[in-house]
Amino acid sequence: MTKLTASSTPSVPFTQSGSSPPAAFPNTAPSSAAPAGPQTAAIHAGLAPDPASGSILTPIYQTATYSQPALGETLSPDGHTYSRCSNPTVSALESNLAGLEGVPHALAFKTGLAAITTLFFSLLRPGDHVVASEVLYGGSVRLLRDLLGSFGVETTFVDSTDCSAVRRALRENTKLLFIESPANPTLIVSDLAALGKLANAAGIIFAVDNTFLTGVLQPVFAHGAHVSVLSTTKYVEGHDSTTGGALLTQDTDLHEKLKLTRSCTGSIQGPFDAWLTLRGLKTLPLRLKRHSASALAIAHFLSTHPAVRAIHYPGLPSSPSFALANEQQLSGGGMLAFELDPEQVPLFLGGLQYITLAENLGAAESLITHPASMTHSQIPIEERERLGIRDGLLRLSVGLEDPEDLLRELQNALQISAPILEEVQA
Ligand code: PLP
Repeated sequence: MTKLTASSTPSVPFTQSGSSPPAAFPNTAPSSAAPAGPQTAAIHAGLAPDPASGSILTPIYQTATYSQPALGETLSPDGHTYSRCSNPTVSALESNLAGLEGVPHALAFKTGLAAITTLFFSLLRPGDHVVASEVLYGGSVRLLRDLLGSFGVETTFVDSTDCSAVRRALRENTKLLFIESPANPTLIVSDLAALGKLANAAGIIFAVDNTFLTGVLQPVFAHGAHVSVLSTTKYVEGHDSTTGGALLTQDTDLHEKLKLTRSCTGSIQGPFDAWLTLRGLKTLPLRLKRHSASALAIAHFLSTHPAVRAIHYPGLPSSPSFALANEQQLSGGGMLAFELDPEQVPLFLGGLQYITLAENLGAAESLITHPASMTHSQIPIEERERLGIRDGLLRLSVGLEDPEDLLRELQNALQISAPILEEVQA
C-alpha cells in the first residue's frame, strides 16, 4: 500500500528499458540495468548518446525517408524506411516512455485523440461493444458515441466507480473496457485493480487513460491495465508546446496491431514534436511532485472558502475518493475541480492574473477551464448536470508557479466575485 503524499515515489521498479526494449535507433537501452528511481528513469530510460555524433540528446531526425542500400534492405538496424511508419527520434521517445513505465512497448502519436482513435480502430469492428466511464474527456465521448457509433460500434457509458454497474454493462460482444481515473473533469476515482479483474475474467482489453497522473503517479500496469493511454500534450511534454499521444502495453501482439493501425492511418508524431516531448519527459517526476504539492495546498484553501460550493481533489482527506486514491495513486496529482455559484464564474475568471482561461492542462502555466462551455460542451446539458459537470464547475490545472502567488490570486478573485454573489442572494 502506498501513502498519498506529494513526495511519494512509486513502489513499482522503474526499469531502464522494460523487459525487452523496443527497437530504437540510435539509442539502444542497456539491458542489464538495475531498477532506477523515476527521475533517473525519466532522464535515461531507453536512451543512449547518439552513436554517430556522441550527442547526449537524441538528434531531431527531420526526414521523411531513408536510403535503402538494396531491395529489402535498410541502412539502419531498426529498419526505418518511411517516417509514417517509424522515425529514430520518435523511436527514442517511445523507448524512453516505455522504459519509464517498465513496459516493453510504447507508440507515439500526433495527439492524444489520435492515440485513442488508433486503439479503437485496432480493437473494434462493426457489431462490437465498448463499456466506458460515463465521466470521460469530451472528445473521447464524441469519438465513441458519434464516430464509432456511425460505424456500428455501440458504447455503454457507466459509472466506472461502481464495479457492479460495469459488470452488468458487459455483453457477449464487449471487446473493450475504457476508463479514465481520475476522470476529467470531476476527478472521481475508479478501482483499477477491481476493473482489471473484471476485464480479465471477461477476456476483454482494459485500457486506462492515465493522462492526469501518468505512470509516474499511477502505475496502471501494476493494477491490471492492458493499455495505458496518454495525451502527452499534457504533463508528459508539460510546456504547452506540442500536441501528442501515446499507447503503452506489455502485450507484443497488441502492440503490433496498434502499430499497423498507426501506419495505416498516418497518425505517428512528427520528429520535432517527439524531440520536444523527450525533453519534457526529463523533468516529468520533478514537475509532478511540484504540481501535486501546490494542488494539495490550493485544495485545502478552497475547501475552507465560503464561496466554494464543492471541491474535487482525490488527495484531500475529506474527498470520497481519498481512500481508493491512496491505494492506487502516489499522490493526488496536479488537477482539481471546484464549484462556484454559476453567476460568480465570469467575474472570478476576470479577477485572475497568472491563471489563464484555456483548454489544456499539465503545463508549467496554471490553466483554468470551464468544462460546461469548453471541453465538455458537446455533452447534452441534462447528462452533463447528472454527471456533476454543472455551469459553476471550474477545472484547475495547477502549474509550477510559486504556490503562494496562486493562493493569493485565487483569494483575490474569490473576493472580487463575491459581491455579485451577495446581490444574487439578496
Ligand atoms: N484524454 C484526456 C484525459 C484529455 O484531457 C485529453 C484532452 O484534453 C485527451 C485525452 C485528448 O488529448 P489531445 O488533446 O492531445 O488529443
